[in-house]
Amino acid sequence: MYAEIIIPLALPKNYTWMIPVSMQDEVAIGMRVEVMLGANKRYAGIVKKISSKAPDAFTPKPILSVLDDAPIVYEHQLALWEWMAEYYMCTEGEVMQAAIPSHLKISSESVFILNEQQEQDTKNLSDAEYIISEALEIKKTLSLLEIQKLLDKKSVYPVINKLIQKGICFVQENMKDKYSSKVEIFLSLHADYKNEAALEKLLNEWTRAPKQLDLLLAFLHFEKTEGTVQQKSILEKANATHAQLKALIDKGILVAEKRKIDRLATDPNTGNTALHSLSAKQKEALASVQSQLLTHPVGLLHGITGSGKTQIYVALINEVIQQNKQALYMLPEIALTAQMIRRLKQYFGGSIAIYHSKFNPNERVEIWNKVKSGEIKIVLGARSALFLPYKNLSLIVIDEEHDPSYKQQEPAPRYQARDTAIYYANQLKAKVVLGSATPSVETYFNAMSKKFGYTYLNERFSTGTLPKIELIDTKKQPAGTAILTPQLLASISKTIANKKQVILFQNRRGYAPYLICETCGWIPHCEHCDVTLTYHKAKNLLSCHYCGASYPIVNTCKACGKQNFKQKSFGTEQIEEKLNQSLPGVIVARMDLDNVKGKNEHDQLIQKFEQRQIDILVGTQMVVKGLDFENVDLVGIVDADSLLNFNHYRVNERAFQMMEQVSGRAGRKNNNGTVIIQVSQLQHPIVQLVQQHDYFGFYNFEIQNRKHFSYPPFSRLMSLLFKHKENNIAEEAANHFLHSLTPEIQKTVLGPAQPIVNRVRNKYIWELAIKISKQPQQLQLAKKQLLHYIRLLQVHPRYKSVNIVIDIDPN
Ligand code: ADP
Ligand code: ZN
Ligand code: ZN
Repeated sequence: MYAEIIIPLALPKNYTWMIPVSMQDEVAIGMRVEVMLGANKRYAGIVKKISSKAPDAFTPKPILSVLDDAPIVYEHQLALWEWMAEYYMCTEGEVMQAAIPSHLKISSESVFILNEQQEQDTKNLSDAEYIISEALEIKKTLSLLEIQKLLDKKSVYPVINKLIQKGICFVQENMKDKYSSKVEIFLSLHADYKNEAALEKLLNEWTRAPKQLDLLLAFLHFEKTEGTVQQKSILEKANATHAQLKALIDKGILVAEKRKIDRLATDPNTGNTALHSLSAKQKEALASVQSQLLTHPVGLLHGITGSGKTQIYVALINEVIQQNKQALYMLPEIALTAQMIRRLKQYFGGSIAIYHSKFNPNERVEIWNKVKSGEIKIVLGARSALFLPYKNLSLIVIDEEHDPSYKQQEPAPRYQARDTAIYYANQLKAKVVLGSATPSVETYFNAMSKKFGYTYLNERFSTGTLPKIELIDTKKQPAGTAILTPQLLASISKTIANKKQVILFQNRRGYAPYLICETCGWIPHCEHCDVTLTYHKAKNLLSCHYCGASYPIVNTCKACGKQNFKQKSFGTEQIEEKLNQSLPGVIVARMDLDNVKGKNEHDQLIQKFEQRQIDILVGTQMVVKGLDFENVDLVGIVDADSLLNFNHYRVNERAFQMMEQVSGRAGRKNNNGTVIIQVSQLQHPIVQLVQQHDYFGFYNFEIQNRKHFSYPPFSRLMSLLFKHKENNIAEEAANHFLHSLTPEIQKTVLGPAQPIVNRVRNKYIWELAIKISKQPQQLQLAKKQLLHYIRLLQVHPRYKSVNIVIDIDPN
């Protein structure tokens, strides 16, 4: 027997290995097996197909070992991977790489790390497992090669796999993934006192150390009410010290033990809240979505900001879990999941889990297994949550479906998670609900052409109406007030005086997006990219937002030698500084990539803002998206021009969506919401449409443009990037490639052209953009040709070092 196996690499195709007779009963589709590639590279691959036919051209090598007792992925997942690789023109190995948590991947490059939090129970270990666990105790980390040497054999995956399963070590794929333990100390009563009479005697005869007695009583109370008692929470609740606790332990009254806590465990008090009763309009919308889904695979819920779309998703999800099926709730950004999970846990308690790429590997595997068994019914997650092994997925909700973050940029697979979810749901006979206040042009187009169902919810839940929008002309302001105009400052002061909060949005971080020499016009650029350097005042450096390189501040012009730099434009850091200067005593916080790094920092800031410990939140896109704050009365868009001035066919769509979404954060629970937009182009059609909250006007305006220039949804776009250290080689390669295509396809190509940023990380970039008809055959034909000529280019003596990036349906 032979098996086609996917290994997590970008190989042109899947290869075949032989299944040794001894393993034939053990191997099944979806299981991991250890295989050798080349002379000495070993991988844990996934069996995709089994057949009795030997490959014609060569004799396959045998599979070395079988790593699983049962498949770790379902066949419908393998079918999805295959489709993604085909559609997005990448390899199944790359999809696998993105799809499964690192704990399930083992390769020659993996590093194995001791799980220091786990109590080692060596009794259950085999000899080989014991040798490795001992070595790990001493060295803390081991490479695959070291393990092979220690065991004096090549095939060590089964041993490693067991050690991972037993929690003794874990795999580190990249050095940045830090593991944080989830082991807590739990307290229990010593066996001697489990007997009620003994306990009573102890308490009655207690004489000294009243604090210890208090602690013991608190312990007994919590054990009774909560079942288990964690050391840290009892110390907190009883306001006791470690010394007092230690005394109780030393006296043999309490016992402390380290125990793994279930990372997914939830507070037992959550999950009991009854669903909110829906307003009349919401009920209508819910019924409409439900009936649309009877006849359509996808339903669009177009509901204005604050209309309560979440409540409708909750009702739909509730229906699904009543039938004992699974639901996936997708959000565009990891950062948004924390606030949403707090909202959803009230209703769904422990049957909901969050999943995304920032979770540590252990948590990801736990969720993986519980989704596979069906124990977890609802998953809330970003893009990668699509890859979990759902047992019976029946509904996918895609919230903020218009959001560009649903598209993965780097690395491959460069997939659009919304579109992929729609494909996948179709395969699984599941339904999809897309939700947005500002649907993407293509989604609304699909709804209007009856491909998707459509439901419109046009009333805010608490107030009925959207906030009013004032435009402020930045051209007519006194010198030096362009960042914070007097009108904006006055509104901010008034809002804060009313004990309300403010959000200010500016789509650029840093202090000043660039510096310019006033004498000769020279602008400092990154040495590795064709990008101006942003000035960061607090860090006192210049930084490249493309490659992350930073540079010391320049005082002397490299072109003319003068010291005459001026800061141009402004970012969030400068707004924060100006607010602090103009409004002393007001608490300002900034939310952007420089300031919030991990998922926790972001959520901490959001919670502080929810608890009103912050008056003004200044931020980039991060503050725009779906957050629900009830006390925000004023939203300011500080520099709307920066949203309107860039060269992209979606510029109008993005600008409208961002402004409407950020406006949507104002006055969600009352009628006093105000939005101030500072802009110089007051008559710009998009600005006018935002002021009227006129989505339909926007769509009608935009769809005309798209049709006229035959942009999506009237065509399909593909982008091919040619990257090389030498500019002329990148350009030649693009031209060479273009001229090898058939005239038919050549007609549909724009370029080669240099993108706006034409050098990143020392590589020059040339781009071909392909606009192709939406007919499936045309697309197939074009892709086939592209792949063929890409292969040829990759072996061409002059161009083989050119790096080619294919992006289907680019953002
Ligand atoms: P959207 O996602 O459409 O912008 P949300 O779902 O966030 O709106 O709802 C806005 C606010 O109104 C939330 O705080 C939500 O809890 C509240 N809300 C919406 N519908 C109801 C309802 N039926 N009962 C109680 N509160 C509701
Ligand atoms: Zn100069
Ligand atoms: Zn750079």
